[in-house]
Amino acid sequence: MNYKVILQEIYNESEKLATLGKITSSIPELGKVDPDKFGIHLTTIAGEDFGIGDSEEKFSIQSISKALTVALAFSFLDEKIWERVGVEPSGSAFNSLVQLEYEKGIPRNPFINAGAIVIADILVTHLKNPKQDFLNFIRMICGSPKIDFNLKVAQSEKDTRFRNAALANFLKSFGNIHNDVDEVLDFYFHQCAIEMTCKELAHSFFFFANEGKTKAGVPILTKSQVKRLNALMQSCGFYDESGEFTYKVGLPGKSGIGGGIAALYPKNFVVATWSPRLNQKGNSELGMNALELLTTKTEMSIF
Ligand code: GLU
Repeated sequence: MNYKVILQEIYNESEKLATLGKITSSIPELGKVDPDKFGIHLTTIAGEDFGIGDSEEKFSIQSISKALTVALAFSFLDEKIWERVGVEPSGSAFNSLVQLEYEKGIPRNPFINAGAIVIADILVTHLKNPKQDFLNFIRMICGSPKIDFNLKVAQSEKDTRFRNAALANFLKSFGNIHNDVDEVLDFYFHQCAIEMTCKELAHSFFFFANEGKTKAGVPILTKSQVKRLNALMQSCGFYDESGEFTYKVGLPGKSGIGGGIAALYPKNFVVATWSPRLNQKGNSELGMNALELLTTKTEMSIF
């Protein structure tokens, strides 16, 4: 497969869509990013790297971090994790409060904010120095010591935290947050404020495509655990557009409101895209389109 040529074709064909969508305004600091950035990086399981555009520029991974926190929490708790968070698509907005009332404080899945806040609580319980230990985990799976939090973004999230604070407090009222609410939120805002390039993101997601082992061969999850998290990304990884992403692209993955997407074809490749202009559901317009083109041109989707 000539990925270099395919990425170039996708990049050229994306130009006509370049002004679609809007950069997020929900976190003020993220609204300052140049909306016209666009990068793609693909890493094959054999270890070849192909990048194009702004693929080596850092951006805020935001909700993409939720796939990495749940992986670490799953490695600690295994199946017991599902006592505190479900595995069903939510069908409502990522920061919705309503379902929690009916479901007695058990969020539908770990990728909506309520679920990710429960996962953050689990990590605060299990890690000695939660933020630093999580950062070290990310640096290890990525194979790069250069990954860090963007503290301005973390502060901006804190300044506009009201909805996430409501979710965390509501969860606490059901007994599904075990630590101090502010500490859990602080961890959550920092995990969302991690910055990576498309290349670093593709390398960080490598273990999802490599039966649970990082690019350097470090085991993170078992084959069965990775199968389960990939299934969860497939059904819940794209807000309430997960069905549409499955229909158009056909790969498990996770998006974030910073405009990034990480997706993978098990045992074949990991791909990361970044373009900050989002569609109405909060997914990157160009990123989603690029991935649709990728699976069409390569005829490589899990379906
Ligand atoms: N930090 C964002 C929030 O909690 C993450 C949103 C996202 O990327 O979906 O609102």
